[in-house]
Amino acid sequence: MLIRRTFAALLVFFLPLAAQTAATKPVKKTDSDPLSVHNNAIVIDTHADTTQRFLDEKYDLADPLNGGNLNLESAKKGNLGAEFFSIWVEPDLYKGQYARRTLELIDAVYQQAAKHPDQMRMAFTADDILAAHREHKLAALLGIEGGHSIDNSLGLLRDYYRLGVRYMTLTWSNSNDWADSSGDIDKPGVKHTQDGLTDFGKDVVYEMNRLGMMVDISHVADTTFERAVAVSRAPVISSHSSARALTNAPRNMTDDMLRAVARSGGPGSKGGVVMVNYYSPFISQQYRDAYIALEPEIKKAKDALRAEYAKEGRQVTYGELDNVERQLIVRIPRPPLSALIDHIDHIIKIAGIDHVGLGSDFDGVSNQLPEGIDSAADLPKMTQALMARGYSASDCNKILGGNLLRVMREIEATAKRLQTETSSGHKTD
Ligand SMILES: [Zn+2]
Repeated sequence: MLIRRTFAALLVFFLPLAAQTAATKPVKKTDSDPLSVHNNAIVIDTHADTTQRFLDEKYDLADPLNGGNLNLESAKKGNLGAEFFSIWVEPDLYKGQYARRTLELIDAVYQQAAKHPDQMRMAFTADDILAAHREHKLAALLGIEGGHSIDNSLGLLRDYYRLGVRYMTLTWSNSNDWADSSGDIDKPGVKHTQDGLTDFGKDVVYEMNRLGMMVDISHVADTTFERAVAVSRAPVISSHSSARALTNAPRNMTDDMLRAVARSGGPGSKGGVVMVNYYSPFISQQYRDAYIALEPEIKKAKDALRAEYAKEGRQVTYGELDNVERQLIVRIPRPPLSALIDHIDHIIKIAGIDHVGLGSDFDGVSNQLPEGIDSAADLPKMTQALMARGYSASDCNKILGGNLLRVMREIEATAKRLQTETSSGHKTD
């Protein structure tokens, strides 16, 4: 940074006066002011769980936040250009109804877009995100969290793609019949695959590549990660994961995994992207240790609520369980924003500036977010913190959304190529 500045100063000294004003004036203003850098960027977040609020709480994106992290007003304030709304089906609560719940969640996002056509629109491609940006609207995209949503059916997977789903995490915290999760890999009694991904699991990955649905490795077990990266013909993403070298959570990614995502996609690929998760127990070891100590109490309180509801014959919602957790975690001091920036910094050091982005996990983490980040309105603070560490405007553009757009474009192009191969008989299912 310092070197660049000195070089710029020298350049200015030797340039004729007229050229100086033409060459330096407009660039300098936007390039050095974090707020203008942020407000001129296409900001993309790849994970928010606001969808459950739409469906279970009848929450409307035009409502005040009411304890949440994302609404239309905060998105506007934080210049959030695109959000991937998570389609997450709680595996125990909705046993036997995975497809139904998946479809209802997808519909809930469409309903929001239909209600607020002046402020948001559905988006399915990188070009759609750019179009929404030009129209000053929030682009709403869909990502499935947990491969159990497809009910072991490639037909359902294709249906979800047709409805607009553009990524799927192969698992959530639960292992399914064809892929293993980091959430239960060591849990006794849980059935696992032999090497992380079954033959059907490989078909799922191939079909995702062929359709143009991003293969998302957030949540999967390390073995599943390795298999998925090895078989995927397109770059993979992690929609909401942080760095394990800094915070030792099985949901976070080791340095080897960060490098593997950066190199994923095979020959000619520009590689995938790791979208950093803001969840306090994933970004601060100190917070994580305190949280683990509090976990038995949280579990007890949640079980008590479940039992109370069961007595009345009612089903407890995600939001209600979340409230229980929120009340207890206020005892743990929030990590500073610098903890989150450390993770971005680390991923850049290991994987490179072209392989990092934002995957907040807003509305999915019981408000366990770093200091200063309460909603999408606070996103400019991240650009400010990144620039204070010496990242340039062009670095920030990549982190804030440019990297994900590049990966989306490559995945769209790979899908087209694979579809031609399939139709010309080179590869069949
Ligand atoms: Zn998640």
